[in-house]
Amino acid sequence: MYDYDFFVIGAGSGGVRSSRMAATYGAKVGLCEDYRVGGTCVIRGCVPKKLYVYASEYSSAFKDAEGFGWSAERPKLDWQKLVSNKEDEITRLEGLYGKNLDNHDVEIIKARGKLLDAHTVELTDENGSRTVTADKILIATGAWPSFPDIPGIEHAISSNEAFDLPELPKRITVVGGGYIAVEFAGIFNGLGVETSLLYRGEEILRGFDLEVRSKLRDEMVKKGVDVRINTNVTEIKKDGDQYILKLTDGNEMATDLVMYATGRQANTKNIGLEELGVKMKPNGEIIVDEYYRSNVDNIFAVGDVIGGMQLTPIAIKEGAALAATQFNDTPTTVNYDHIPTAIFSQPPIGTVGLSEEDAREKYGDDLKVFRSEYKSMKFTLAGRDERSLIKMLVDGKTDKVVGAHMIGPDSAEIIQGIAVAIKCGATKAQFDDTVAVHPSSAEEFVLMK
Ligand code: NDP
Repeated sequence: MYDYDFFVIGAGSGGVRSSRMAATYGAKVGLCEDYRVGGTCVIRGCVPKKLYVYASEYSSAFKDAEGFGWSAERPKLDWQKLVSNKEDEITRLEGLYGKNLDNHDVEIIKARGKLLDAHTVELTDENGSRTVTADKILIATGAWPSFPDIPGIEHAISSNEAFDLPELPKRITVVGGGYIAVEFAGIFNGLGVETSLLYRGEEILRGFDLEVRSKLRDEMVKKGVDVRINTNVTEIKKDGDQYILKLTDGNEMATDLVMYATGRQANTKNIGLEELGVKMKPNGEIIVDEYYRSNVDNIFAVGDVIGGMQLTPIAIKEGAALAATQFNDTPTTVNYDHIPTAIFSQPPIGTVGLSEEDAREKYGDDLKVFRSEYKSMKFTLAGRDERSLIKMLVDGKTDKVVGAHMIGPDSAEIIQGIAVAIKCGATKAQFDDTVAVHPSSAEEFVLMK
Protein backbone atom coordinates (compact mmCIF):
# COMPACT_ATOMS: atom_id res chain seq x y z
CA MET A 1 0.00 0.00 0.00
CA TYR A 2 1.46 3.36 -1.06
CA ASP A 3 0.91 6.83 0.42
CA TYR A 4 -0.39 8.07 -2.93
CA ASP A 5 -1.79 6.59 -6.13
CA PHE A 6 -0.04 9.33 -8.07
CA PHE A 7 2.81 11.60 -7.03
CA VAL A 8 3.89 14.49 -9.23
CA ILE A 9 7.26 16.22 -9.07
CA GLY A 10 6.90 19.78 -10.36
CA ALA A 11 3.94 22.15 -10.16
CA GLY A 12 4.20 23.74 -13.59
CA SER A 13 1.67 23.59 -16.39
CA GLY A 14 1.98 19.85 -17.03
CA GLY A 15 2.22 18.72 -13.41
CA VAL A 16 -0.65 20.85 -12.18
CA ARG A 17 -3.03 19.72 -14.93
CA SER A 18 -2.11 16.08 -14.60
CA SER A 19 -2.46 16.01 -10.82
CA ARG A 20 -5.80 17.83 -10.89
CA MET A 21 -7.24 15.54 -13.58
CA ALA A 22 -5.97 12.40 -11.82
CA ALA A 23 -7.64 13.58 -8.60
CA THR A 24 -10.86 14.23 -10.53
CA TYR A 25 -10.76 10.60 -11.64
CA GLY A 26 -10.53 9.52 -8.00
CA ALA A 27 -6.79 9.05 -7.48
CA LYS A 28 -5.09 10.06 -4.24
CA VAL A 29 -2.60 12.64 -5.48
CA GLY A 30 0.44 14.42 -4.02
CA LEU A 31 2.43 17.14 -5.73
CA CYS A 32 5.76 18.61 -4.71
CA GLU A 33 7.34 21.87 -5.84
CA ASP A 34 10.49 23.53 -4.51
CA TYR A 35 9.76 26.99 -5.93
CA ARG A 36 6.33 28.43 -6.67
CA VAL A 37 3.14 26.74 -7.84
CA GLY A 38 2.52 27.65 -11.47
CA GLY A 39 5.93 26.86 -12.87
CA THR A 40 7.78 28.70 -15.61
CA CYS A 41 4.68 29.81 -17.50
CA VAL A 42 3.00 31.58 -14.62
CA ILE A 43 5.97 32.69 -12.56
CA ARG A 44 8.74 33.54 -15.04
CA GLY A 45 7.51 32.84 -18.52
CA CYS A 46 4.39 33.37 -20.61
CA VAL A 47 2.37 35.38 -18.10
CA PRO A 48 4.89 37.97 -16.86
CA LYS A 49 6.38 38.10 -20.37
CA LYS A 50 3.04 39.06 -21.89
CA LEU A 51 2.46 41.67 -19.19
CA TYR A 52 5.83 43.21 -20.06
CA VAL A 53 5.01 43.10 -23.76
CA TYR A 54 1.86 45.10 -23.00
CA ALA A 55 3.92 47.52 -20.91
CA SER A 56 6.49 48.01 -23.63
CA GLU A 57 3.92 48.55 -26.38
CA TYR A 58 2.71 51.72 -24.69
CA SER A 59 5.73 53.69 -25.86
CA SER A 60 4.63 53.39 -29.50
CA ALA A 61 0.94 53.60 -28.55
CA PHE A 62 1.55 57.03 -26.98
CA LYS A 63 3.15 58.17 -30.23
CA ASP A 64 0.33 56.64 -32.32
CA ALA A 65 -2.22 58.49 -30.21
CA GLU A 66 -0.97 61.86 -31.46
CA GLY A 67 -2.18 61.02 -34.96
CA PHE A 68 -5.64 60.52 -33.49
CA GLY A 69 -5.60 63.99 -31.99
CA TRP A 70 -4.31 63.25 -28.50
CA SER A 71 -1.54 65.19 -26.88
CA ALA A 72 0.00 64.50 -23.52
CA GLU A 73 3.06 65.27 -21.50
CA ARG A 74 5.88 62.91 -22.36
CA PRO A 75 4.97 59.72 -20.44
CA LYS A 76 7.57 58.22 -18.11
CA LEU A 77 8.01 54.59 -17.10
CA ASP A 78 8.20 53.53 -13.46
CA TRP A 79 9.98 50.18 -13.85
CA GLN A 80 9.76 49.26 -10.15
CA LYS A 81 6.00 49.81 -10.25
CA LEU A 82 5.72 47.53 -13.27
CA VAL A 83 7.79 44.82 -11.54
CA SER A 84 5.75 45.13 -8.38
CA ASN A 85 2.39 45.04 -10.21
CA LYS A 86 3.58 42.02 -12.19
CA GLU A 87 4.54 40.34 -8.92
CA ASP A 88 1.07 40.99 -7.49
CA GLU A 89 -0.56 39.45 -10.55
CA ILE A 90 1.56 36.29 -10.60
CA THR A 91 1.07 35.91 -6.86
CA ARG A 92 -2.68 36.12 -7.45
CA LEU A 93 -2.47 33.45 -10.15
CA GLU A 94 -0.24 31.29 -7.97
CA GLY A 95 -2.90 31.50 -5.26
CA LEU A 96 -5.62 30.48 -7.71
CA TYR A 97 -3.59 27.48 -8.87
CA GLY A 98 -3.05 26.40 -5.26
CA LYS A 99 -6.73 26.86 -4.41
CA ASN A 100 -7.81 24.89 -7.45
CA LEU A 101 -5.52 22.01 -6.45
CA ASP A 102 -6.79 22.16 -2.87
CA ASN A 103 -10.37 22.06 -4.13
CA HIS A 104 -9.55 18.85 -5.95
CA ASP A 105 -7.84 17.33 -2.89
CA VAL A 106 -4.39 17.36 -4.43
CA GLU A 107 -1.92 17.62 -1.57
CA ILE A 108 0.69 20.29 -2.34
CA ILE A 109 4.04 19.83 -0.62
CA LYS A 110 6.55 22.68 -0.76
CA ALA A 111 9.73 20.63 -1.08
CA ARG A 112 12.25 19.37 -3.58
CA GLY A 113 11.50 15.85 -4.76
CA LYS A 114 14.06 13.20 -5.59
CA LEU A 115 13.43 9.60 -6.55
CA LEU A 116 15.01 7.10 -4.17
CA ASP A 117 13.53 4.11 -5.95
CA ALA A 118 10.70 3.54 -8.42
CA HIS A 119 8.05 4.10 -5.73
CA THR A 120 9.78 6.34 -3.18
CA VAL A 121 10.28 10.09 -3.35
CA GLU A 122 12.51 11.95 -0.93
CA LEU A 123 11.11 15.37 -0.07
CA THR A 124 13.55 18.00 1.15
CA ASP A 125 12.77 21.45 2.49
CA GLU A 126 14.49 23.80 4.97
CA ASN A 127 13.37 21.56 7.84
CA GLY A 128 15.01 18.42 6.48
CA SER A 129 14.00 15.37 4.49
CA ARG A 130 11.28 12.75 4.60
CA THR A 131 10.00 10.17 2.18
CA VAL A 132 6.65 9.35 0.61
CA THR A 133 5.65 6.42 -1.56
CA ALA A 134 3.45 6.29 -4.63
CA ASP A 135 2.16 3.76 -7.10
CA LYS A 136 2.77 6.01 -10.12
CA ILE A 137 5.13 8.96 -10.34
CA LEU A 138 5.17 11.82 -12.82
CA ILE A 139 8.27 13.87 -13.57
CA ALA A 140 7.10 17.30 -14.67
CA THR A 141 10.16 19.32 -13.73
CA GLY A 142 10.29 21.46 -16.88
CA ALA A 143 13.39 23.06 -18.32
CA TRP A 144 15.94 25.68 -17.36
CA PRO A 145 17.85 28.28 -19.42
CA SER A 146 21.02 26.85 -20.91
CA PHE A 147 24.14 28.91 -21.58
CA PRO A 148 27.03 28.18 -23.93
CA ASP A 149 30.38 27.60 -22.29
CA ILE A 150 32.33 30.77 -23.15
CA PRO A 151 34.68 32.83 -20.99
CA GLY A 152 32.76 35.32 -18.86
CA ILE A 153 29.37 33.65 -19.32
CA GLU A 154 28.81 34.02 -15.55
CA HIS A 155 28.17 37.72 -16.22
CA ALA A 156 25.13 36.94 -18.37
CA ILE A 157 21.56 36.76 -17.11
CA SER A 158 18.68 34.72 -18.50
CA SER A 159 15.02 35.68 -18.89
CA ASN A 160 14.53 34.43 -15.30
CA GLU A 161 16.44 37.40 -13.89
CA ALA A 162 15.25 39.86 -16.54
CA PHE A 163 11.80 39.97 -14.96
CA ASP A 164 13.05 41.37 -11.67
CA LEU A 165 15.95 43.65 -12.52
CA PRO A 166 16.41 46.22 -9.77
CA GLU A 167 16.53 48.85 -12.51
CA LEU A 168 16.51 48.94 -16.28
CA PRO A 169 19.93 49.21 -17.90
CA LYS A 170 20.67 51.95 -20.42
CA ARG A 171 21.88 49.33 -22.93
CA ILE A 172 21.22 45.60 -23.21
CA THR A 173 22.51 42.91 -25.55
CA VAL A 174 20.32 39.88 -26.06
CA VAL A 175 22.01 36.76 -27.45
CA GLY A 176 19.94 34.19 -29.37
CA GLY A 177 17.41 34.30 -32.16
CA GLY A 178 14.53 32.18 -30.82
CA TYR A 179 11.23 32.93 -29.12
CA ILE A 180 12.68 34.39 -25.94
CA ALA A 181 15.38 36.49 -27.58
CA VAL A 182 13.04 38.26 -30.01
CA GLU A 183 10.32 38.72 -27.40
CA PHE A 184 12.67 40.24 -24.82
CA ALA A 185 14.48 42.39 -27.40
CA GLY A 186 11.05 43.87 -28.20
CA ILE A 187 10.22 44.34 -24.54
CA PHE A 188 13.45 46.12 -23.63
CA ASN A 189 13.40 48.26 -26.77
CA GLY A 190 9.82 49.32 -26.10
CA LEU A 191 10.69 50.17 -22.50
CA GLY A 192 13.34 52.56 -23.75
CA VAL A 193 16.50 50.46 -23.36
CA GLU A 194 19.05 50.65 -26.21
CA THR A 195 18.74 47.07 -27.39
CA SER A 196 20.97 44.85 -29.51
CA LEU A 197 20.13 41.32 -30.58
CA LEU A 198 22.92 39.03 -31.69
CA TYR A 199 22.05 35.90 -33.61
CA ARG A 200 24.59 33.36 -34.83
CA GLY A 201 22.67 32.24 -37.96
CA GLU A 202 21.51 33.71 -41.26
CA GLU A 203 18.07 34.73 -40.04
CA ILE A 204 16.31 34.91 -36.66
CA LEU A 205 13.62 32.36 -35.69
CA ARG A 206 15.01 29.32 -37.44
CA GLY A 207 12.26 26.87 -38.41
CA PHE A 208 9.57 29.48 -39.03
CA ASP A 209 8.47 30.78 -42.44
CA LEU A 210 11.45 32.59 -43.94
CA GLU A 211 9.51 35.57 -45.24
CA VAL A 212 7.94 36.09 -41.82
CA ARG A 213 11.35 35.82 -40.17
CA SER A 214 12.95 38.47 -42.33
CA LYS A 215 9.87 40.68 -42.01
CA LEU A 216 10.20 40.55 -38.24
CA ARG A 217 13.86 41.48 -38.45
CA ASP A 218 13.04 44.45 -40.73
CA GLU A 219 10.33 45.68 -38.39
CA MET A 220 12.52 45.25 -35.31
CA VAL A 221 15.27 47.27 -36.97
CA LYS A 222 12.73 49.98 -37.89
CA LYS A 223 11.73 50.14 -34.23
CA GLY A 224 15.34 50.74 -33.26
CA VAL A 225 16.63 47.29 -32.27
CA ASP A 226 20.21 46.75 -33.44
CA VAL A 227 19.77 43.25 -34.88
CA ARG A 228 22.99 41.58 -35.98
CA ILE A 229 22.79 38.24 -37.76
CA ASN A 230 25.75 35.90 -38.34
CA THR A 231 27.15 37.24 -35.09
CA ASN A 232 27.94 35.43 -31.88
CA VAL A 233 29.82 36.22 -28.69
CA THR A 234 33.14 34.54 -27.94
CA GLU A 235 33.91 36.24 -24.62
CA ILE A 236 32.31 38.54 -22.07
CA LYS A 237 34.56 40.81 -20.04
CA LYS A 238 33.56 43.03 -17.17
CA ASP A 239 34.86 46.55 -17.57
CA GLY A 240 33.82 48.72 -14.64
CA ASP A 241 30.06 49.14 -14.83
CA GLN A 242 29.81 47.79 -18.33
CA TYR A 243 30.60 44.61 -20.24
CA ILE A 244 32.72 44.23 -23.35
CA LEU A 245 31.62 41.48 -25.70
CA LYS A 246 34.07 39.97 -28.13
CA LEU A 247 32.19 39.07 -31.29
CA THR A 248 32.80 36.44 -33.96
CA ASP A 249 33.02 39.17 -36.61
CA GLY A 250 36.13 40.48 -34.87
CA ASN A 251 34.37 43.51 -33.38
CA GLU A 252 33.81 44.36 -29.74
CA MET A 253 30.60 45.66 -28.27
CA ALA A 254 30.07 47.57 -25.03
CA THR A 255 26.84 47.01 -23.13
CA ASP A 256 25.39 47.36 -19.63
CA LEU A 257 23.65 43.98 -19.45
CA VAL A 258 23.90 40.72 -21.37
CA MET A 259 20.91 38.40 -21.56
CA TYR A 260 21.22 34.93 -23.04
CA ALA A 261 18.22 33.19 -24.59
CA THR A 262 19.96 30.26 -26.19
CA GLY A 263 17.48 27.51 -25.45
CA ARG A 264 16.34 25.61 -22.41
CA GLN A 265 17.52 22.28 -21.07
CA ALA A 266 15.40 19.60 -19.39
CA ASN A 267 15.54 19.65 -15.57
CA THR A 268 16.57 16.03 -15.06
CA LYS A 269 19.75 16.32 -12.99
CA ASN A 270 19.95 15.32 -9.32
CA ILE A 271 16.44 13.97 -9.06
CA GLY A 272 17.42 10.31 -8.96
CA LEU A 273 16.68 9.49 -12.60
CA GLU A 274 20.16 8.24 -13.57
CA GLU A 275 20.37 6.06 -10.45
CA LEU A 276 17.03 4.50 -11.30
CA GLY A 277 18.07 3.86 -14.90
CA VAL A 278 15.42 6.13 -16.46
CA LYS A 279 16.43 6.49 -20.10
CA MET A 280 17.22 9.97 -21.33
CA LYS A 281 18.43 11.54 -24.55
CA PRO A 282 22.00 12.92 -24.61
CA ASN A 283 20.53 16.39 -23.90
CA GLY A 284 18.87 15.10 -20.71
CA GLU A 285 15.28 14.89 -21.97
CA ILE A 286 13.37 11.87 -20.66
CA ILE A 287 12.45 9.31 -23.32
CA VAL A 288 8.78 8.32 -23.10
CA ASP A 289 6.35 6.30 -25.20
CA GLU A 290 3.20 7.75 -26.76
CA TYR A 291 1.46 7.49 -23.38
CA TYR A 292 4.26 9.38 -21.60
CA ARG A 293 5.66 6.28 -19.87
CA SER A 294 9.43 6.06 -19.39
CA ASN A 295 11.34 2.78 -19.60
CA VAL A 296 10.60 2.36 -15.87
CA ASP A 297 7.05 1.08 -15.83
CA ASN A 298 5.51 3.38 -13.20
CA ILE A 299 7.51 6.53 -13.98
CA PHE A 300 6.00 9.02 -16.42
CA ALA A 301 7.06 12.41 -17.79
CA VAL A 302 5.32 15.27 -19.60
CA GLY A 303 6.06 18.82 -20.70
CA ASP A 304 9.40 20.50 -21.35
CA VAL A 305 11.24 17.68 -19.60
CA ILE A 306 10.48 15.34 -22.53
CA GLY A 307 11.44 17.94 -25.18
CA GLY A 308 9.47 18.45 -28.35
CA MET A 309 7.73 21.80 -28.60
CA GLN A 310 8.34 23.47 -25.25
CA LEU A 311 4.93 25.11 -25.07
CA THR A 312 2.54 25.42 -22.12
CA PRO A 313 -0.55 24.16 -23.97
CA ILE A 314 1.39 21.06 -25.03
CA ALA A 315 2.45 20.30 -21.44
CA ILE A 316 -1.15 20.78 -20.31
CA LYS A 317 -2.51 18.43 -22.97
CA GLU A 318 0.15 15.82 -22.20
CA GLY A 319 -0.60 16.03 -18.48
CA ALA A 320 -4.32 15.61 -19.11
CA ALA A 321 -3.75 12.73 -21.55
CA LEU A 322 -1.59 10.93 -19.01
CA ALA A 323 -4.20 11.30 -16.27
CA ALA A 324 -6.95 10.02 -18.58
CA THR A 325 -4.82 7.04 -19.62
CA GLN A 326 -3.74 6.02 -16.14
CA PHE A 327 -6.74 6.95 -14.00
CA ASN A 328 -9.76 6.99 -16.28
CA ASP A 329 -9.21 3.87 -18.37
CA THR A 330 -9.06 5.98 -21.53
CA PRO A 331 -5.76 5.58 -23.38
CA THR A 332 -5.13 9.10 -24.66
CA THR A 333 -2.26 10.65 -26.51
CA VAL A 334 -1.69 14.14 -27.85
CA ASN A 335 -2.04 14.85 -31.54
CA TYR A 336 0.94 17.00 -32.43
CA ASP A 337 -0.31 17.98 -35.90
CA HIS A 338 -1.12 21.59 -36.68
CA ILE A 339 0.05 23.13 -33.42
CA PRO A 340 -0.53 26.85 -33.58
CA THR A 341 1.94 29.10 -31.85
CA ALA A 342 2.46 32.80 -31.33
CA ILE A 343 5.60 34.78 -30.81
CA PHE A 344 4.96 37.92 -28.84
CA SER A 345 7.57 39.86 -30.72
CA GLN A 346 6.81 43.39 -31.85
CA PRO A 347 5.05 43.02 -34.23
CA PRO A 348 3.73 39.65 -33.05
CA ILE A 349 3.63 36.48 -35.13
CA GLY A 350 0.92 33.83 -35.29
CA THR A 351 1.57 30.65 -37.16
CA VAL A 352 0.12 27.20 -37.77
CA GLY A 353 1.11 24.40 -40.12
CA LEU A 354 3.99 24.30 -42.55
CA SER A 355 6.33 27.13 -43.47
CA GLU A 356 6.56 27.91 -47.17
CA GLU A 357 9.95 26.19 -47.30
CA ASP A 358 8.66 22.97 -45.69
CA ALA A 359 5.46 23.04 -47.75
CA ARG A 360 7.49 23.47 -50.95
CA GLU A 361 9.53 20.42 -50.02
CA LYS A 362 6.40 18.39 -49.34
CA TYR A 363 4.09 19.54 -52.14
CA GLY A 364 6.59 20.71 -54.79
CA ASP A 365 4.93 22.41 -57.75
CA ASP A 366 1.46 21.70 -56.35
CA LEU A 367 2.00 24.31 -53.65
CA LYS A 368 0.05 27.53 -54.03
CA VAL A 369 1.17 30.52 -52.01
CA PHE A 370 -1.24 33.33 -51.21
CA ARG A 371 0.07 36.46 -49.55
CA SER A 372 -1.19 39.82 -48.51
CA GLU A 373 0.90 42.68 -47.23
CA TYR A 374 -0.88 45.74 -45.89
CA LYS A 375 -0.78 48.58 -43.43
CA SER A 376 -3.11 48.17 -40.44
CA MET A 377 -5.88 50.77 -40.48
CA LYS A 378 -4.79 51.95 -37.05
CA PHE A 379 -1.35 52.88 -38.34
CA THR A 380 -2.64 55.12 -41.12
CA LEU A 381 -3.62 58.05 -38.91
CA ALA A 382 -0.91 57.10 -36.47
CA GLY A 383 1.64 57.51 -39.24
CA ARG A 384 3.41 54.38 -38.10
CA ASP A 385 5.69 52.83 -40.68
CA GLU A 386 4.75 49.21 -40.02
CA ARG A 387 3.23 46.73 -42.42
CA SER A 388 1.62 43.37 -41.74
CA LEU A 389 2.01 40.18 -43.73
CA ILE A 390 -0.37 37.25 -44.05
CA LYS A 391 0.45 34.06 -45.92
CA MET A 392 -1.58 31.01 -46.72
CA LEU A 393 -0.11 27.86 -48.20
CA VAL A 394 -2.39 25.55 -50.10
CA ASP A 395 -1.88 22.08 -51.53
CA GLY A 396 -3.09 22.64 -55.09
CA LYS A 397 -4.09 18.99 -55.48
CA THR A 398 -6.55 18.86 -52.58
CA ASP A 399 -7.10 22.62 -52.09
CA LYS A 400 -6.35 22.06 -48.38
CA VAL A 401 -4.71 24.88 -46.44
CA VAL A 402 -1.46 23.44 -45.07
CA GLY A 403 0.01 26.52 -43.44
CA ALA A 404 -1.03 29.98 -42.30
CA HIS A 405 1.27 32.71 -41.06
CA MET A 406 0.68 36.22 -39.91
CA ILE A 407 2.94 38.96 -38.64
CA GLY A 408 1.17 42.06 -37.47
CA PRO A 409 -1.10 43.31 -34.68
CA ASP A 410 -3.42 40.70 -33.15
CA SER A 411 -1.72 37.76 -34.94
CA ALA A 412 -1.91 35.58 -31.83
CA GLU A 413 -5.63 36.21 -31.43
CA ILE A 414 -6.38 35.65 -35.10
CA ILE A 415 -4.31 32.52 -35.67
CA GLN A 416 -6.21 30.55 -33.00
CA GLY A 417 -9.39 30.57 -35.09
CA ILE A 418 -7.50 29.84 -38.29
CA ALA A 419 -5.87 26.86 -36.53
CA VAL A 420 -9.29 25.34 -35.82
CA ALA A 421 -10.20 25.58 -39.51
CA ILE A 422 -6.90 24.05 -40.61
CA LYS A 423 -7.17 21.29 -38.01
CA CYS A 424 -10.60 20.49 -39.49
CA GLY A 425 -9.00 20.21 -42.93
CA ALA A 426 -10.44 23.43 -44.38
CA THR A 427 -9.87 24.11 -48.07
CA LYS A 428 -8.99 27.42 -49.66
CA ALA A 429 -12.44 27.39 -51.29
CA GLN A 430 -14.03 27.20 -47.83
CA PHE A 431 -11.96 30.14 -46.63
CA ASP A 432 -13.04 32.05 -49.76
CA ASP A 433 -16.66 31.12 -49.11
CA THR A 434 -16.52 32.58 -45.60
CA VAL A 435 -17.89 36.10 -45.25
CA ALA A 436 -15.31 38.67 -44.16
CA VAL A 437 -15.44 40.53 -40.85
CA HIS A 438 -15.03 44.11 -41.97
CA PRO A 439 -13.03 46.22 -41.35
CA SER A 440 -10.47 43.96 -39.71
CA SER A 441 -7.06 42.45 -40.37
CA ALA A 442 -8.48 38.96 -39.92
CA GLU A 443 -10.60 39.38 -43.04
CA GLU A 444 -7.44 39.16 -45.15
CA PHE A 445 -7.52 35.41 -44.51
CA VAL A 446 -10.77 35.06 -46.49
CA LEU A 447 -10.00 37.64 -49.16
CA MET A 448 -6.72 36.35 -50.56
CA LYS A 449 -6.81 35.81 -54.29
P1 NDP B 1 14.82 28.57 -28.83
O1 NDP B 1 15.17 27.17 -29.01
O2 NDP B 1 13.54 29.09 -29.39
O3 NDP B 1 15.98 29.47 -29.44
C1 NDP B 1 17.31 29.35 -29.01
C2 NDP B 1 18.13 30.33 -29.81
O4 NDP B 1 19.45 30.34 -29.28
C3 NDP B 1 18.24 29.93 -31.27
O5 NDP B 1 18.21 31.11 -32.03
C4 NDP B 1 19.60 29.25 -31.33
O6 NDP B 1 20.23 29.39 -32.57
C5 NDP B 1 20.37 30.07 -30.32
N1 NDP B 1 21.49 29.35 -29.74
C6 NDP B 1 21.51 28.09 -29.25
N2 NDP B 1 22.73 27.78 -28.78
C7 NDP B 1 23.50 28.87 -28.98
C8 NDP B 1 24.86 29.17 -28.72
N3 NDP B 1 25.66 28.27 -28.16
N4 NDP B 1 25.33 30.38 -29.06
C9 NDP B 1 24.50 31.29 -29.64
N5 NDP B 1 23.22 31.06 -29.92
C10 NDP B 1 22.72 29.86 -29.59
O7 NDP B 1 14.94 28.82 -27.27
P2 NDP B 1 14.47 30.01 -26.34
O8 NDP B 1 15.48 30.05 -25.26
O9 NDP B 1 14.19 31.25 -27.10
O10 NDP B 1 13.08 29.48 -25.79
C11 NDP B 1 12.96 28.18 -25.25
C12 NDP B 1 11.64 27.60 -25.59
O11 NDP B 1 10.64 28.21 -24.81
C13 NDP B 1 11.20 27.81 -27.03
O12 NDP B 1 11.66 26.81 -27.89
C14 NDP B 1 9.72 27.80 -26.94
O13 NDP B 1 9.27 26.49 -27.15
C15 NDP B 1 9.43 28.24 -25.53
N6 NDP B 1 8.88 29.61 -25.54
C16 NDP B 1 7.66 29.83 -26.12
C17 NDP B 1 7.14 31.09 -26.17
C18 NDP B 1 5.83 31.33 -26.84
O14 NDP B 1 5.07 30.39 -27.02
N7 NDP B 1 5.53 32.56 -27.24
C19 NDP B 1 7.82 32.22 -25.57
C20 NDP B 1 9.09 31.88 -25.00
C21 NDP B 1 9.58 30.61 -24.98
P3 NDP B 1 19.97 28.35 -33.78
O15 NDP B 1 18.65 28.72 -34.38
O16 NDP B 1 21.10 28.63 -34.70
O17 NDP B 1 20.00 26.99 -33.19
